[in-house]
Amino acid sequence: MLNRKFFEERDQADPLSCFRAEFSLPDELIYLDGNSLGALPSQVMNRVSRVIEREWGHDLVRSWWDNRWMELPAILGDKIAQLIGAQPGEVIACDSTSVNLFKVLSTALSSSPDRHVILSDRANFPTDLYIASGVISTMGRDVEMRLVGSGELEQQIDSSVAVLFLTHVDFRHGARCDMGHMTRLAHDAGTLVVWDLSHSAGAMPVELNACEVDFAVGCGYKYLNGGPGAPAYVYVAQALQAGVRTPLTGWMGHEAPFDFSTRYAHAAGIRQMLCGSPPILSMAALEVGVDLLLDADLAEVRKKSIQLTSLFMQQVNERCKEHGFTVLTPREANRRGSQVSLAHPHGFEITEAMCHHGVVADFRPPDLLRFGFAPLYTRYTDVWDAVETLHQIMEEGTWDRREGDNRGEGTAR
Ligand SMILES: *Cc1c(COP(=O)(O)O)cnc(C)c1O
Repeated sequence: MLNRKFFEERDQADPLSCFRAEFSLPDELIYLDGNSLGALPSQVMNRVSRVIEREWGHDLVRSWWDNRWMELPAILGDKIAQLIGAQPGEVIACDSTSVNLFKVLSTALSSSPDRHVILSDRANFPTDLYIASGVISTMGRDVEMRLVGSGELEQQIDSSVAVLFLTHVDFRHGARCDMGHMTRLAHDAGTLVVWDLSHSAGAMPVELNACEVDFAVGCGYKYLNGGPGAPAYVYVAQALQAGVRTPLTGWMGHEAPFDFSTRYAHAAGIRQMLCGSPPILSMAALEVGVDLLLDADLAEVRKKSIQLTSLFMQQVNERCKEHGFTVLTPREANRRGSQVSLAHPHGFEITEAMCHHGVVADFRPPDLLRFGFAPLYTRYTDVWDAVETLHQIMEEGTWDRREGDNRGEGTAR
């Protein structure tokens, strides 16, 4: 049996412990929901105030050039590239993950006109599947969306599949796909791949170039700590950029937006993935979050993430076993991301009770409690304290005494 002292010692020996102070988090709060909304980096306040007061308030429209606002999507893209194993010029920050998915799925389908299947996991994130259906409806030809269980994906890859479209770490159970393996299988069949990195980038090294990935998208407000609704990003492998045709032909993706030509001509390289004007205030906030991650050693980030998640699973098994929890996250470290999911028939009420006791996790229907471990600011003692709280709530049955049904509010997001 471990005790709290063991976790305190782990914090003292943690090479990433200094990062916690870079975040503005209430000391008494145990925040295990960074996989949904990352914490606030303290420097965001200074950075955004400066952009507002000096760049917007004083320099005004000249800031597009003088303060490099026009360059911000590409500057941020090059920084994010370092987190996901890509080269400068392969990533650009823009729009939302959903919109970026629309661009890359359309492009991938258009470049495989003789193939008619988009293959994905039926448990993929809903917006990803909604967008894929939307793309199909605009294609003007018969395209089939083939959704199968994760175990059946491999045998479904054949020469009819235009695009294999997967999320690297699954948002429900936290299972991690083998990106290199699946990409290789797809390429062997002449199939393009699109990876969604929303639940992995920032919590572990990602190796897009090494895995020879074609297209990827990801989210700015989870492990990148970019703030609510932060800009997302899109990656297109260098070798494919010349053949890209995004259907969202906005002026920021034009080769010369300020020529105000009436004829569209796409920019060279990754810039053609831009559509409209970049949200500068949000980009400034996201840059602070990304800069923090660039200061961290991602191998250490992954190592800590594995330790936090395995200690959490071990403690839940040891201390809450008789209370009916099932651990759904893979035990094998290289098969999981940075979250642990537990199933419990009263998952919603228990999540609410945890939140009431200062432990923020979240609930996903029908019965999932999700605990995210963002390695930059989560402490080892948070693991101990969270399980202690869970144990106490279950022993005392306090989860059953909350009044009313506020399902859909609180931590349910
Ligand atoms: C969080 C997340 C998104 C978010 O999409 P937005 O359009 O940025 O809101 C998309 N896909 C996955 C897999 C996610 O985890």
